Amino acid sequence: MSIEIENLTHVYMKGTPFEKKALDNINIKIEDGQFVALIGHTGSGKSTLIQHINGLLKPTSGKIIVDDTDITLKGTKLTDIRKKVGLVFQYPEYQIFEETIQKDIAYGPKNLKLDEEEVMERVKRAMKMVNLDYKTFADKSPFELSGGQKRRVAIAGVVAMEPKVLILDEPTAGLDPKGRDDILGQISKLQKEYKMTIILVSHSMEDVAKIADRILVMNHGKCILDGKPNEIFKEIDTLESIGLAVPEVTYLVRELRKKGFNISEDIFTVQQAKEEIISYLRSVKNA
Ligand code: ADP
Repeated sequence: MSIEIENLTHVYMKGTPFEKKALDNINIKIEDGQFVALIGHTGSGKSTLIQHINGLLKPTSGKIIVDDTDITLKGTKLTDIRKKVGLVFQYPEYQIFEETIQKDIAYGPKNLKLDEEEVMERVKRAMKMVNLDYKTFADKSPFELSGGQKRRVAIAGVVAMEPKVLILDEPTAGLDPKGRDDILGQISKLQKEYKMTIILVSHSMEDVAKIADRILVMNHGKCILDGKPNEIFKEIDTLESIGLAVPEVTYLVRELRKKGFNISEDIFTVQQAKEEIISYLRSVKNA
């Protein structure tokens, strides 16, 4: 199931003095099972773009084709789109409202008018997918949980709709480093084990470097870079010119190379840097 975005333009409050072009002729094709990160500073158009992919916003012009269906056509039902494309908003735990975790996760599937047994199956599957033990958590209040666990419950609520594509808007925002790694690990698992297509909106190059297959960089409503992490992080000057930075460790590697360390410049995680530096030092020692 692919997503094709063709010549997508979105203008807010068209024809008023507050008119704002938030998306300017975007063309992107996302293949089934990809892990795509969408990066850009505040106001670059990321939220506007993702809300088009699940039909919450309609384009001013252009098309969005999900699984061979043009979802911008009149008559397309939002529920049909939501079955395919799940959207986890920023701070999704604020939308938790039920008294138990299982009731909260069941809310979406119930709205799909599935029978009770199927709803329960989905709740169990979704909890497993985000690593929440059913017996321990099902009847607990979501409000007793830690911030990271609450977020997992909220993500499970969307996952329980069993979408093929999962879009997450800043899923690590406000979490501590352990909570961030934990959520990123869960999301990575959803792609690898459950074959979901993931679109992750993020400010953090560090986060994205660890898990994305592909990075799209947005600026002023345009997609200005599109490539694998190693291709994107070579564009340090372009990224800095729009207020973004490459991962800290990539700067470190650059400095080491200037000082004569013969190591690869394609390094953007601490783990990669560690392995590369150790292997370089070993080769120097053995020489
Ligand atoms: P991002 O998610 O990258 O921060 P947005 O998609 O939220 O960017 O915003 C893109 C542009 O559209 C910004 O200039 C923003 O002010 C404007 N914008 C966003 N939402 C609205 C809205 N509901 N009405 C008017 N302008 C909006």
